[in-house]
Amino acid sequence: MDKRTFLTWADRNARRIGVKKELVIKAFEKDMTTQTGADTPFEIPDTMHVNMRYSYGGQSRFFREILENKRIMGTRCNQCDKVFCPPRAHCPHCYEKTAWTELKGTGRVLSYTTVYFATSSYIKQVPYIVAYIKLDGTDTAILSNVEMKDIKRARVGMQVKVVFRGQRDGRITDIYFKET
Ligand SMILES: [Zn+2]
Repeated sequence: MDKRTFLTWADRNARRIGVKKELVIKAFEKDMTTQTGADTPFEIPDTMHVNMRYSYGGQSRFFREILENKRIMGTRCNQCDKVFCPPRAHCPHCYEKTAWTELKGTGRVLSYTTVYFATSSYIKQVPYIVAYIKLDGTDTAILSNVEMKDIKRARVGMQVKVVFRGQRDGRITDIYFKET
């Protein structure tokens, strides 16, 4: 595709999918100007809007308690007493059914990373901390954001507590953690 045809093509596709022309040019410049053979894989920009319902299944109560009651729930194995958060309907060690138990929402950072590249929902927050947090009274770790004024202060072993967002809509991002 020659340069002029490419620019026309980019303009038309940008309008069609509702993004800036420059984005299409940037994403396809090299590909579209080097692909010449009729059998070369041909890629075009597109967008997908999907309306869907996602079922939390056996973990539903965990999300419902956060949404409606600002409570963090785990599950406890009826046989070995291990406590899971994120909750599990059955113990992975004994295969026994578990029972719901309320947690305090405090814990420690087991491991963390600093995120510099994010999806569009979080692009304004970079850089930020994502951590595996072992909540007090549990035997597993939950993955969540730790919001800090100074991310350089993040460390393994740091004590954190859950924060419930003012506007919650039944997603794991309804909560985050902060230093205590
Ligand atoms: Zn068990």
